[in-house]
Amino acid sequence: MARQYPWLLAPVPWSPAQEWIRGYHDGLPLLSYGCAPQHLLATRRQLRAKGKRPNGSDPVALLYLLHKPSKKLVFAIYLIALAAPVRPMTPAKYSALAKANLARRICRSCGKDPLYILPTSTKQCWPCFEAEHATDTTEIGAA
Ligand SMILES: [Zn+2]
Repeated sequence: MARQYPWLLAPVPWSPAQEWIRGYHDGLPLLSYGCAPQHLLATRRQLRAKGKRPNGSDPVALLYLLHKPSKKLVFAIYLIALAAPVRPMTPAKYSALAKANLARRICRSCGKDPLYILPTSTKQCWPCFEAEHATDTTEIGAA
C-alpha cells in the first residue's frame, strides 16, 4: 500500500502552499482518510450534513478509505468554499406537498375533506368510519 500510494508534495486547490497527497487518481489529488483538512474539504454527504450542496462544482480531490486490504472506497471531495446552501422550499414544492396532503385528507366514502389527515388504514373521515362501524355492529347484532 505504501508503495502504491507514496506521499507526494503537490499544489492543491484548497491551499496556497503545496500539500502532502497520496498521488493522483483520475487526474485528481488522492487523499487518505485523516489527511483532508475538514474545515476546507468535505464529501457530498458531509456537505449535506452542513446544509450545503456542491452547487455544480466538480470534486477537487478524491478520498480513499481502505475498508479491507482488498476493498477500497473512494469518495469525491468538494471545496466547502464553493458549496451553496441547500435550496429552500420553492412555492412549487409547497403546492405539491399541499396537494399530496389534500389527497390524503379526502375521505374515500363521502369524498369530503374533513380538514385533517385521514388514517391510512381506513382513509375515511370519522363520521363515515363511525357510520360504517355502526352498520357492522347492527348486522352482527341482528345475525
Ligand atoms: Zn367521510
